[in-house]
Amino acid sequence: MNKRIFRYMVFLIIFTVLFFALLWGTVFSVQLGPQIKNELKTLRVSLIDESGNVVFDNMANPSDLENHSNRKEIEDAIKYGEGESERLSGTLGEKTYYYAVQLESGNILRLALTTNRIEGLIYKFVLVVFICLFLSGSVASVIARRLTKKMIAPINNIDLDRPELGDYDELSPLIKKIESQKEEISKQLLEIESRTATTLVITENMKEGLLLLDKNGTVLMANESVLGILNKSEVIWKNVVEVYRESNFLKQMKECLAGKKTESVLHVNKHTYSVLYNPVFEDDIIKGAIVLFIDITGRYAVESQRKEFSANVSHELKTPLTTIAALSEMIMDGTVREEDIKTFANKIYLQSKRVISIIEDIIRLSEFDEGNVVKDFIDFNLYELADSVIMNLSEKLSEKNVEIELNGDPNLRMTGNMHMVDELLYNLLDNSIKYNRDPGKIIINLSEQNEYVKIDVSDTGIGISKEHIGRIFERFYRVDKSRSKKTGGNGLGLSIVKHVVGFHDGYIKVESEIGEGTTFSCFLKKNISK
Ligand code: ADP
Repeated sequence: MNKRIFRYMVFLIIFTVLFFALLWGTVFSVQLGPQIKNELKTLRVSLIDESGNVVFDNMANPSDLENHSNRKEIEDAIKYGEGESERLSGTLGEKTYYYAVQLESGNILRLALTTNRIEGLIYKFVLVVFICLFLSGSVASVIARRLTKKMIAPINNIDLDRPELGDYDELSPLIKKIESQKEEISKQLLEIESRTATTLVITENMKEGLLLLDKNGTVLMANESVLGILNKSEVIWKNVVEVYRESNFLKQMKECLAGKKTESVLHVNKHTYSVLYNPVFEDDIIKGAIVLFIDITGRYAVESQRKEFSANVSHELKTPLTTIAALSEMIMDGTVREEDIKTFANKIYLQSKRVISIIEDIIRLSEFDEGNVVKDFIDFNLYELADSVIMNLSEKLSEKNVEIELNGDPNLRMTGNMHMVDELLYNLLDNSIKYNRDPGKIIINLSEQNEYVKIDVSDTGIGISKEHIGRIFERFYRVDKSRSKKTGGNGLGLSIVKHVVGFHDGYIKVESEIGEGTTFSCFLKKNISK
């Protein structure tokens, strides 16, 4: 490379000098040569004798000219052999230079040239030199630019994968360094790629939502789950404020980005998430945050059901127990007359029965919950069972003036838990009496449908509106609390029915018209495996 640069430099210098010389020579011969010749034509030559008389003048008639003996240049020429002087010409303000020399003949030869001519000549001369210099410089700079490009081109065109250095051996250490760095970079890239792929596989397969934020709250990473949870298609490089505008979430996020590890519960699209906000530190300086969304919908629902259930149990038991306590206290205090004690005792008995019935139902439901129910499947006659339930409820039927009709094959049999099916029929019929009109009617239809036995209980009662039908199987749910309490209901009957049906691999349908009546249709597996 050195040699090449040197060659170019020498070439450029020689070229510039030659070009300048050629240019100058041409301009001089074409322009200045004739000019100087012309200028010489305007040179005034005079010959003067020793007495100062003009003998010859190339520009004037000597007889018209005055005696020159008192002119300084003439005086000096006579005295010293040569003399010179300069004088301003009166009219044009021009200055004339005189040079006189005494010839051997004694005569004096005088040359005269006016200033503007000399200076003009010098000016032209210098100007031409500068123009030539400028032109040479311009041409040289164009050539220099081309040469530089030519010199740099091979460096720019070096293929770093297969370098051919040519004249540029000096670049060899640099190329080697670049090559080793390239290798290092591709190794690191491979490692990063494999790590990214692993992280991606892990995060994308995570059920939990994952958000990675920088310290300003800009989202750096978000997995598929979190996009689903937040219902967004793209969140990368967006600020968390734009991503999810929920006040509590943003408040926790702010605290987290201030360095505090927090937790919150978020309800989105009928799901409940436990959100964990973890600040990320490096050398005690906050660098960002990792936010994890864990779906706790099931756990949360069970937990809230459990809380609601215990609150309901306490509430349901409190009323009859308070009544029992108050009545017994009055008897103990002797404030109750002898003849009223029986009535009081009866009230205490009824309230105690209510407490026992609630407790029994709760125990039954918790047995279902824990799967502690003994299967105890036997073959029995469903028609006869329904008939016996009707018998047990005959008193209530006549009290409420409700007529009942049982239809179906008297030999209809099924295999299942007879005690549970008894309870199912009892609860359905009990409700049909309680929520019936006075007088009213109940029709029971027993039939077979494929692998199921179908139990239809229809009444002519008050009916259930659509919005309540979906909830009547929930524990302690009652459409009309006061009416249900008056009729001795505890809101657990249909929950038990639902469990019994489920226990026999079946399902329930409810059809109801307000003011017209309700039909419960229970489908139970006819021959559930023992
Ligand atoms: P309850 O002990 O209150 O009767 P259930 O669980 O048996 O509790 O029933 C839940 C609610 O469903 C009742 O409170 C009542 O409002 C409604 N219900 C149940 N059966 C009938 C029916 N045959 N007619 C009208 N409403 C009914």
